[in-house]
Formats: sequence, C-alpha cells, structure tokens
Amino acid sequence: MNSSKSNDATDSSCQGGNLDTTEEVKDELCPGFKDADTFVKYGLGAVLSATKASAGLPQSGDEYDFYRSFPGFQEFCESQGDKLLHCMSQIMQNHGCRSHIKDRDKLTGIEERFDLVVDSNDVILERAGILLDEADGVNRSQKPVMPVGFQPPKIVVSSWNRKGSSSGSRSETFRLLHAKNIARPQLKFKEKVDNSNTPFVPKIFIKPNSLKALPSYFTNKQIRKERPEDLDVPAALADFIHQQRTQEHVEDMFAHPYQYELDHLIVPESLLSKPEPQMYKPLAETNLTFVDSLEDLVTLNEKLCKSSEFAVDLEHHSYRSFLGLTCLMQVSTREEDFIIDTLELRSELYILNEAFTDPSIVKVFHGADSDIEWLQRDFGLYVVNLFDTHQASRALNLARHSLDHLLKHFCDVDSDKRYQLADWRIRPLPEEMIQYARSDTHYLLYIYDCVRAQLLDSNHGQPGLLQCVWNKSRDISLKKYLKPIYTEESYLELQRKQKKSFNTQQLTAFRLLFAWRDKLARQEDESTGYVLPTHMMIKISEELPKEPQGIIACCIPVPPLVRQQVNELHSLVQQAREMPLLKVRNHRCSALSLCLNLSWFDPEVSLFGPHDVSKVSEGEVPQVTADGELDTLPILLHFIQLLFISPNDQRSMSVAQMKARRIIESFENPFRMYLPSADVHVNKNAKFDPSSKIFEISKRWKLQSVEQQQKELEAKKKIREEAKQQESLQKVPTVRQQAAVSYLLSHSFPVCFYLI
Ligand code: AMP
Ligand code: MN
Ligand code: ZN
Repeated sequence: MNSSKSNDATDSSCQGGNLDTTEEVKDELCPGFKDADTFVKYGLGAVLSATKASAGLPQSGDEYDFYRSFPGFQEFCESQGDKLLHCMSQIMQNHGCRSHIKDRDKLTGIEERFDLVVDSNDVILERAGILLDEADGVNRSQKPVMPVGFQPPKIVVSSWNRKGSSSGSRSETFRLLHAKNIARPQLKFKEKVDNSNTPFVPKIFIKPNSLKALPSYFTNKQIRKERPEDLDVPAALADFIHQQRTQEHVEDMFAHPYQYELDHLIVPESLLSKPEPQMYKPLAETNLTFVDSLEDLVTLNEKLCKSSEFAVDLEHHSYRSFLGLTCLMQVSTREEDFIIDTLELRSELYILNEAFTDPSIVKVFHGADSDIEWLQRDFGLYVVNLFDTHQASRALNLARHSLDHLLKHFCDVDSDKRYQLADWRIRPLPEEMIQYARSDTHYLLYIYDCVRAQLLDSNHGQPGLLQCVWNKSRDISLKKYLKPIYTEESYLELQRKQKKSFNTQQLTAFRLLFAWRDKLARQEDESTGYVLPTHMMIKISEELPKEPQGIIACCIPVPPLVRQQVNELHSLVQQAREMPLLKVRNHRCSALSLCLNLSWFDPEVSLFGPHDVSKVSEGEVPQVTADGELDTLPILLHFIQLLFISPNDQRSMSVAQMKARRIIESFENPFRMYLPSADVHVNKNAKFDPSSKIFEISKRWKLQSVEQQQKELEAKKKIREEAKQQESLQKVPTVRQQAAVSYLLSHSFPVCFYLI
C-alpha cells in the first residue's frame, strides 16, 4: 500500500492496480487502476460476481416468501436494497439523469423505477458510444441527428487489436465482451448456417461405434444430387416437405442418432469402483497443442481413441449469430492439453465422433447440458459415455456446483472466470484467453477421480450414488438440440415473460416488431438481441411513436439494423396504430385457438411464411381467448388435406398450396447443406499417402460409407416403389400421416406455415 492509496481512501474501494511507484500513480486512469484494461477487468469481475450472487438469492415466489417471513432476512433485504438504490441513484445523478429512484415515497411502483433505470442506461450507453466514437476520430456533432439509410460499419480499434501501440508493452491487453470489428466467422463456413424456421435435423452422416445402423435418411445425404441453385427455399424445409411427401423416415429425422447405443450403455464395474485419484500434471509441464488443421485434428482423434478418458469443454458466442457459434473446444488427456479452433475446423470436427461415441472411453465434462446441444448443432458430434462433474457435485451436495468452486475445493486453484463472457471469436486468441480456456479442462480428470471416490465414500462404498451420476450424465448426452422456432404465439410467450400488459395497438406493434426482428435475425444471422433488444421493442410498442424519429428515440444506442430499417419499423407501428383501441385482458391462448382466430387454416387465406402478415386483417388479430374445449379433429383433417393434397388436383388448391407444390416439385437435393465438401475426409496432400493417419481413417470410413450407401440405395428403390403406390391412396390419410400431423402440431408448428 502506498501513500496515495490512503490519501484518496474513499469508499469506492478500488483494488485493481498494483501500485509500486509514485510515477505510476501519476499515470493512473482512476485511483487504484493503472490503465483502462485493469479497470475493465476489475469491473467485469465485479459484475460477474454480483450477477452470480444475485442468481443465488431465493427465487421469487414461495422460496422468497418463505425467507421473507424471517425478520432478519427482511431487514437485511431492506438495508441492502437501500444501499443499492443509493448507489444507483448516485450513478444516475452523476450522469444528470432523473434519480428519485431511492425515494420510496415518490415512487408509484416498480415499473416506474424500472423505466428510470432503463432511461439512465440509455443515456449512459449513448454517452459511452459518443466517447468511443470520438476516440475513434468520428465527430458525432457534425452528423445529422437521425441519419436514415445505410451506415458504413465503423472500425473500432480497441486495446486487443491495436497495432503498434505507442506504449509498446501493451500487446497483451485486449478488450473483453463484444469487440466490434471481428470478421464474421460465418463467412468462412463451408456449409451455410441454416437459420430457416424449420426443426433441426441431425447433421450426422457417418456413425462410428454403431450398434444400430444410421437410418438411410442420413447416409443417403451423400449420394443425392445437387439441389437447383435457383430455388430460394431453405434446404431443411425442402428436405422436410420431401420427407412428408414420400412418407420416409419422419421419426428418424428427429430421433437421437445414438439413442439405441445410449439406451444400451452399461457402466463397467471398473468405473463403479473406487479410483485412486491421479494427480494432474502441473500446467507448466504440460504440453499444449493448438489444433487448427485437419492433420492435427486427425492426430488428436487417434490419441483420444487410444485413451481411456479425456476431458472436454466448449466456448461459445451468441451475440453476432442467430443460433450461436461454438468457437473453441478444449480437450485434456492425463498427459496433454489441446485447444481446437472449432471455427476453422467446423466441417471437419465430426471425425471426433470416433472417440466421442466410443463407449469404452469416458468423456468428462463440467455442466454438459449446453455443450451436448452445441456439439450436435455445429458439428454433428455425439457423446456416448459421459461423466458430468456438475452432476457429481450435485449428488455430493457440495456447497456450490460451479467449476471454479470444484477447482478451489479439489485443486486449490483460484480460477478467473472473467473471460467466460469474452468474445471467443477473436483470432488469433490472446494468450490470456488460451490459458483461461485451457484451465477449464486441465484439472477435470483429477476432479473426476476425486468426485468418484467421494461418491463411493459418502455412500458407504456402495455404487448407488455414483451410478446415479452416470445415469444423469447419460440423460444429458441424450439431449437433442432444438432450434428456436417462430410461431404465431412466440411473441405472447415473450410478453408473458416480460410481464407487460398492452392494449390492442401496443400488442399488435409488439407482435409485428417481434416478427420483423425474428425474420431479420434469421436472414442476417444475428441474435434477436442484436437486431432489436427486447426492452427497446417494448418501449416502441408502448409509445407507438408517430414519426420515425420517435422510434430512433426509443432505441438508444440505436442498433444498426433499426437505423437501416427505420422506415419499415415505422410502417409496422402505423399498422398497429390503425387497430381499434381495446384493453387486452387475457394473453393466454393456444396455438390452435390462434390458428382459428387468424383463420390461417382456411385455404382461401393465402399467407405464405410466418412473417407474411400482409393479408391479416384487423379482425383477425388474436382476440385473446381461453382455448377451452376445441374440437381438434376437423382441424387435423384439414391439415392432412393441406399437407397431402394430390398435386394434380389443382382446382382445389390455394395460391399458397400451389406455391408449396412448386417447391416440392422443383427441389432435387435438400441435403446439400449437410454434404461434406469433396475433401472433407482427407487433406488433399495427405490422402494419397498410405503412411499417413489420414489415409488410414479415410480408407476405413470410405469403405464404411460406400457399403452403407449401396445398402441404402437398394432400400431406397424399394421405398420409392412403395411411395408411388401410396400416392394413389393419398386422399385418405393413413395412420402414419395422422401421426405426422399430430407431430407437426405439437413439435414443429411453423413448418406448416410454409406449407399453407
Ligand atoms: P463454460 O462452460 O463456463 O466455459 O462456458 C461456456 C460458454 O457458455 C461460454 O463461452 C459462454 O459463451 C457461455 N456462458 C457461460 N457462463 C455464462 C453466463 N453466466 N452468461 C452467459 N453466457 C455464459
Ligand atoms: Mn463448459
Ligand atoms: Zn469453458
């Protein structure tokens, strides 16, 4: 501690900097912090721990009410609440915002208080934006207040990408969270991301370690011809329609490809007996390999296939992508650490299925729920024989179940979770982020040993508890990725979550904005939060601005796509203003009642696609009703008629049905997006070299897939003949068709929007 620190010892309690000399103190950005990065890192750490702490508070509802019945808890809440309000109010005052937030008497309610916070956030963020622009050399004051049309993207130079920084020693600093000028990794993907509003279909096309062969639907992907380029239909949609038409493999398309293997997975005795924990190697003595080429990936796969267990973790990015992107995979064996650039090797990672689905190799994850989904979604990877240390921590009833807690508890390692929310798309990865990522798996196998030993100890040596963790882990590996699906009801779900009550005009605006945002996010491959954050969407809906400027004023800082499409947004708001003004009482309604209200079951109403609201007249805006006792049978039958109507029966077809028919007729290969590129198995240089591992793998898999293909070709011929026979019977829906329709109604509603 030096003298300057005690001089300005206010209660701001800054602790971030290492202050050794008085010279450094002069250069301080603010007391206790030598530069902006130190401050930001400290700040982010503080925010993260505050967020974590708040997540640990009793849940609202019964849990909170129970705690609240204790006077001590009540007092604590009130004093902490006052402190927080005081702090917020000071920040708001500093920024010249209205700040009577802490003044309980003047408040009419939580909503007003919330609005005040939102307004202040807007002001502060706008100010930060202006300052960043100024630092970047952009003079905002010379710009029109509300520029319409396209804004060229700005390059923000921040500390992590600053070239030749004058200080010289700053090369290791970098900016956390959303660095703006990162090239979109999606642009380099070999297979385009499928954001269409259709259910997710597994990406797998080769199934190593199979006990039950992969359904022909998936293996046939490789031998189908190219889809005509001119057809503007999402591949998965064309795919789906095709499957409906030919009555093939509907269940297969949505089944878990390793369901059978996972159902028949038996944990061997050796994994149920007490292990002697094997100490992790010190980080400094462990080899770290950065894997960003196919050759290295193949080498890694070979290594993993020979091991009996390895640890895995993923890092993910979700802000500048609709579905999210897995950016990094960390793998640790007992001997080595690996970091795989999954953006670079996205189309090749499926080869790891050989190790990942080998039931004799344990894959250790911590909190694998999301990882299992991301692996399927991005790479077609599955895990057979998973051990989730998070589940073990729960079974052991440890104080907390986070990885940092386990690291502290078992390894006495203080982990630094500040990078958890970093922008993992950054390349090349800064050293700090590599080290952080690596520590997520480096100690995990040792933790796996420790928790297994404890699970047995705590159960008097009986394997029951440990078996329970294996079972829970298996259930997690059975999880299926579900794509976010837009339905006519989605906006109501969000509205319910936000606990907002709207009148008919506001609700209509909310519905239209929601549809606009969803459509644009899918189209531009951005998150809905990037296109238009929910709180801005609510503000526009509530205020229904008469002018485009009013919309801009609701969105500070203005999201780029809002600025670009402000006129479109304005017309949506106008459309909403034309609604008769009524108070909406009850927002609960089912998909079916909505369908009835919107009359989109009627073949005469030719809506195409979920976003085509052009034909919806005012009267059809959902009059929020309880769904009551709807007779669903006629609707189902009508659906069947729509789905399976004979393509030759043109007289009775609506415009939308004809459009659907055109789609069905014109596509040939819906599987293009899933097809591996020509060199997907093997690197061009290595594939003819019999000494290379790639050659070996390639040969093995090629043989496997050729064999599969031949079998499937024959099977397919047979199915086609059967399908032809069935076509003539199509007027009467089969049990299978009815099952498909009920599946559609319950699982994949939106697909129907495309069909009618
Ligand atoms: P982890 O398993 O802790 O390494 O987290 C994996 C990924 O999940 C991170 O790269 C983040 O994208 C995301 N993530 C983890 N924790 C959070 C959080 N508290 N909030 C939002 N995203 C998170
Ligand atoms: Mn993880
Ligand atoms: Zn991680």
